[in-house]
Amino acid sequence: MAPPSEPTTARFRSGAGRLCLDFMRTLRLRGTDEATEELATARDLADWVAQLGPYPADTVVPVPDEAVLLRARALREAVHTLLTAARGEDGPAGCPSAERDLLNAAAAGATPAVRLDATGAAVHTAQDPVGAVLADIARDAVTLATSSALSRVRACSGPRCAAWFLDTSRPGNRRWCSMETCGNTSKKNTWRTRHTTGA
Ligand SMILES: [Zn+2]
Repeated sequence: MAPPSEPTTARFRSGAGRLCLDFMRTLRLRGTDEATEELATARDLADWVAQLGPYPADTVVPVPDEAVLLRARALREAVHTLLTAARGEDGPAGCPSAERDLLNAAAAGATPAVRLDATGAAVHTAQDPVGAVLADIARDAVTLATSSALSRVRACSGPRCAAWFLDTSRPGNRRWCSMETCGNTSKKNTWRTRHTTGA
């Protein structure tokens, strides 16, 4: 793992189009032999929140205790379970009750507060910056799972990428989580071998 980073260092991947999807990607290659935990320590979680949360760049995000880290990972997997169910035949009702309870408990938490400062900027703050972002993630997941945007959630076609993203392209035919990474790699390879890779 990289050493603790400056809050503004882009260490974690973003750009999935939804906070809950970016959070899901912190378990890389989920469901494969090569699954890699990016939130290995509580400091990793604080760094993720500093990078992807809504707070000003100079916000110091306190490192939470181990219990919060475990809860965050459980929440992340509940997000995956919910969205997997929601994309399936049963829809969001297919989310098992344990995961639903976990999501609901997190979603009930305080989210970041926003205020308009004198320069016209929206400034987000929270007493508990990590907990507030986890509440945001849970709400985002429930909202996404129950909205029409769900039909635009795709799995990246990159052969070594299990990331999901929200396809906001007008024709709805985006195939890669990111053109800079998976899209480029794919273009360098022959089109033929990628053509049938759906997920
Ligand atoms: Zn990808």
